[in-house]
Amino acid sequence: MTARWGILGGTFDPIHLGHLRAAEEVYEALRLEKVLFIPAGQPPHKYRPDLSPFEIRLQLVKAAIKGVDYFEALDWEGLRPGPSYSVETLELLNRSFACVDFYFILGLDAFVSFGSWYRFQDILSFTHLVIISRGPGDIGLFQKTVQKLFPQALPEASFWRLPEGKTIRFLPVTRLDISATKIRSLVRQGRSPRFLLPEAVWEIINKQKLYTA
Ligand code: ATP
Ligand code: MG
Repeated sequence: MTARWGILGGTFDPIHLGHLRAAEEVYEALRLEKVLFIPAGQPPHKYRPDLSPFEIRLQLVKAAIKGVDYFEALDWEGLRPGPSYSVETLELLNRSFACVDFYFILGLDAFVSFGSWYRFQDILSFTHLVIISRGPGDIGLFQKTVQKLFPQALPEASFWRLPEGKTIRFLPVTRLDISATKIRSLVRQGRSPRFLLPEAVWEIINKQKLYTA
């Protein structure tokens, strides 16, 4: 059987239990071999002058997944100059690991604006899509978005399939109401973000005085 790898991209400033639990549940549900966490170098969709340096965000990801042998951090987007376009990373991954089927994991909120991503249609020649969400109530918005962005997709039992073969599926996960924005804001106010993120990540934030100014 072809190996299946999940991909979770993000700014991860910082990574938190929402990301990690979602990755764990997709890993289990789709019987993935591993999940790659890919911090964005320079995210094209977000302008944040206070964005932490790539090396720090990568360090936070590595600390968060330490000891989980099916989670891996990939530093490629920090090595390329300019904005990090998912399509370029996915194209490279496909070329480097030709025998792997990729499953790109994306929150429903991100999928709704997927039509504005650079070469979004090409992304589907390199990877399947897994849209994660809080619960089955969101499936209506998911279906509508698929039909709008990919009118050529046809419904099958538990996913949509594009003529070229890749699939787009909806996967409800235990969505924890945690965001990096909220964590940064708590730290800035001198309040505790503990238990919203792995202790090892909190220790680095503390030691390096991240998000204080
Ligand atoms: P920020 O608040 O800075 O936007 P974030 O917490 O939303 O950060 P991102 O790095 O933007 O984290 O998210 C990366 C990916 O993880 C996106 O696909 C997003 O939909 C998903 N994600 C973010 N938070 C959660 C969560 N609590 N549960 C599940 N998935 C999440
Ligand atoms: Mg976000």
